[in-house]
Amino acid sequence: MNKILWITFVTIYISYVQSAIIGKDEFVTVEDNPYQNVNDIANPDVGSARNERILWPYVAESTTKSENEENETDENVNKDVKPREKRFLHWSYPQSPIVDMMMQTMSVNYSPNVAGDPFDFLRDSYQLPEGKLLEEYDYIIVGAGTSGSVLAARLTEGKPKATVLLLEAGKPEMLLSDIPALAPYIKLTHYVWPYTMEHQPGVCLGSEEQRCYSPQGKAVGGSSVVNDMIYSRGRPQDWDRIAADGNYGWSYDEILPYYKKSERCELRKYKNATYSGRDGELTVENVPFRTGLVEAFLAAGRLHGNPTIDYNAPDQLGFGYVQTTQNRGHRLSAAKAFLHPHKRRKNLHILTDAKVTKVVIEPQTKRAYAVEYLKNHIKHTARCRREIILAAGAVGSPQLLMLSGIGPKEKLEVLGIPVISDLRVGKSLYDHIAFPGIVFKLNSNNASLQELKVATLPNLMQWLQFGDGLMTTPGLVEAVGYIKTSHSDGKVPDVELLNLGGSIVSDNGGAFRKSLKISDKTYVTAFSGLHGCDTWSAIPILLHPKSKGCLELRDNDPFSHPKLYGNYFTDPQDMETMKEAIKYVIKLGESEPFKKYGAQLYLPSYPNCQSHGPGSDSYWDCAIRTMVVSLHHHVGTCKMGPPNDPEAIVDPELRVYGVDGLRVVDLSVLPHTISGHMTAPALMIGEKAADMIKKIWSNVVV
Ligand SMILES: Cc1cc2nc3c(=O)[nH]c(=O)nc-3n(C[C@H](O)[C@H](O)[C@H](O)COP(=O)(O)OP(=O)(O)OC[C@H]3O[C@@H](n4cnc5c(N)ncnc54)[C@H](O)[C@@H]3O)c2cc1C
Repeated sequence: MNKILWITFVTIYISYVQSAIIGKDEFVTVEDNPYQNVNDIANPDVGSARNERILWPYVAESTTKSENEENETDENVNKDVKPREKRFLHWSYPQSPIVDMMMQTMSVNYSPNVAGDPFDFLRDSYQLPEGKLLEEYDYIIVGAGTSGSVLAARLTEGKPKATVLLLEAGKPEMLLSDIPALAPYIKLTHYVWPYTMEHQPGVCLGSEEQRCYSPQGKAVGGSSVVNDMIYSRGRPQDWDRIAADGNYGWSYDEILPYYKKSERCELRKYKNATYSGRDGELTVENVPFRTGLVEAFLAAGRLHGNPTIDYNAPDQLGFGYVQTTQNRGHRLSAAKAFLHPHKRRKNLHILTDAKVTKVVIEPQTKRAYAVEYLKNHIKHTARCRREIILAAGAVGSPQLLMLSGIGPKEKLEVLGIPVISDLRVGKSLYDHIAFPGIVFKLNSNNASLQELKVATLPNLMQWLQFGDGLMTTPGLVEAVGYIKTSHSDGKVPDVELLNLGGSIVSDNGGAFRKSLKISDKTYVTAFSGLHGCDTWSAIPILLHPKSKGCLELRDNDPFSHPKLYGNYFTDPQDMETMKEAIKYVIKLGESEPFKKYGAQLYLPSYPNCQSHGPGSDSYWDCAIRTMVVSLHHHVGTCKMGPPNDPEAIVDPELRVYGVDGLRVVDLSVLPHTISGHMTAPALMIGEKAADMIKKIWSNVVV
């Protein structure tokens, strides 16, 4: 009853606000005008009637300002730096009240178990089809994340019907996590495991407690619920290299069908490309709103020899508009794509808020046959006939293996964990690291995205009604570029550039930098002088860091976070590559296409870098050590490899060495990073694993 009343109330309220704000104009649809460069100074006429009205203040205007105007802006900027005030979720900088209001429904303190909670209806729900669990399942999947969701969907389709229990420690997502522009905020909620790397001297000096932050998704849908939705597949050579190391079945030609299987390509220009999928559940589309800055970035790229292309095309290298896992402007998580449509399947049981603490393995036969999990503080055991599949992510899966007795013997014995299989679990940990500290100050107004102007009620209403507008920008990202520095192996790009329609200051020190855990002191000293200004930034990412980290259990408590060692920049070549990438971005920002915005490189004065001449080599060294961040793309902790690889944990069919009935199906199996982001590979791994598992069990009739 409560639910019905709320839905009625909200529907009436939304209709009322829409009619009040949007009026009765004839609006163009997304199809009529998909790419609205409303503030593209080169094309001042492209804005539609709706754009002028709803997307205000993103209207075309001159970028040139008088000296007086410029000075006035600077004064205002200084006035903006106010003493810290306590706000909801303890944000220290002013932000849109709309965002405040929305965040109240998913704050860290929010609990759906609170009786009479008014926002519970916004959350998705997964009911057990017949209200109870089975005594035994064919498969148990641990983790309803990116790989786990697609795997569960595939294992429960077709005939004969296999039964699957999917256990997820996190909660189902909600309407607000669908709003792409809220991506930085979602990372501050209980939808993440807030992992912090172990302290490493000389790295992440500007982060809180000088420790790098690397959260992972904790939700039905896993990291695909909290990520920035960028869809990229890596280069064919990445996969051919993995196959050449003895991993049969993983060459590009062999994995391409699995990429295509998931994908429903909605990229207008590349829809019919032979390498794109058309019939999958996961829509991949461009972002319906773009600033003019993205055109400048792409034009600058072309000037420096980088064609504007589909960056997922296997045979081309260059820059391209960002492709996202969105469906008509809404985030499309793995759960939305693969679990929602099938949640009434009788053979798929999804348990949320269920944290698996151990895989139970028969010590004599070494066969995995059950898992222990905690739900509502009560310990349960679920039994399995065929296979237990860990899809708990690159941190969760190795942790569970070790808690269950699979890991380095000497370490497990110290923690009092009986050893089942002595394997080098967690021995390698690779990640993509990035530098968000290159900022250009623009002398324009409203050319870049700024939160106080984006997060408005009209924009929210536009997103609700049309699924477009400024709310669709995924964490500011508008384009992606791949380059090879002088340190690359010549085969694959070693740097990615993430082009933003703004910069780290776009929300005046709010969720963007908070989600990276850049400290108050660093941020205020370095960037508060830019508050309220138009800015542009491109973030260089090291695609193939040579430095290798590792993961260890902290203790034998399943609720303790494992120890994550990034070991960033321990190989000096990584620092050199990053510096070269920074110079490249500066070259782009200083080139002709950005001149019309009056782009000027801003050299932040970091608290710990003040003895270095701004812009000098040692300045950049210090700046990188201060502002380096993880992109949370961990791989390698349950490395896949042939039997003769001493560090391999799983074989090329993802079966754990030395144990029967146990696989790992997530990004932890990748031996090293690939030249792209990780959602697409995680889905592909889920697809491929489903086929391998079905093939093995195809003769068994249930
Ligand atoms: C903040 C952020 C931004 C990102 N941005 C992008 C991006 O824009 N584009 C991109 O391609 N990639 C991005 N990534 C990376 C990408 O989303 C992830 O690498 C990928 O989704 C991981 O997939 P997975 O299946 O390996 O693990 P996950 O999707 O993380 O799934 C693991 C699941 O297992 C659950 N789990 C863990 N332990 C247990 C347990 N003991 N019991 C029960 N359940 C458990 C977790 O709660 C989680 O739901 C981002 C990642 C993060 C964290």
